[in-house]
Amino acid sequence: MENKSVFEMILSGDIESDIIYEDNKIFAIHDINPVAKVHILIIPKKKIPTMNDLTEDDTDLIGSMFICAKQLAKKFNIDQTGYRLLFNTNSDAMQTVFHIHLHLIGGEKLKNI
Ligand code: 5GP
Repeated sequence: MENKSVFEMILSGDIESDIIYEDNKIFAIHDINPVAKVHILIIPKKKIPTMNDLTEDDTDLIGSMFICAKQLAKKFNIDQTGYRLLFNTNSDAMQTVFHIHLHLIGGEKLKNI
C-alpha cells in the first residue's frame, strides 16, 4: 500500500494539527513553518500528488479550494490588505509534500515574485 502523505496523517489524527476548516471534500490547517503572519494550507481530502495529476473530474474540487481560500482570507482579516495563493509543483518549485495543497499567505507585506 502506498505511504500516507503527512496531510492524510493529519486528517486521520495520526499527526496532531488544528483543522481550521473542514467539509466533505477539503480541509485547512495552519502551516507548521509559516513564511508570513498568516500561512494556511487548503488541502483536498482526495490525494492528488501534483498539479500534473489533475483531471477534468477535479474541476469542482479545485474551485472549492479557491472559494475556501477566499473565505479564510476574510476570516483571518487579510482579504482587504492582500494575500497570495499558490501551488508548488515538483522540484524547481520546491514542492515537498506530494499531496496537492493551496498556500494562502498574507498578513504582512510580501516580497515581490
Ligand atoms: P510544499 O513545499 O509542498 O508546497 O508545502 C508543504 C508545506 O507543508 C510546507 O510549507 C510545510 O511547512 C508544511 N508542512 C509539512 N509538514 C507539516 C505538518 O506536519 N503540519 C503542518 N501544519 N504543516 C506541515
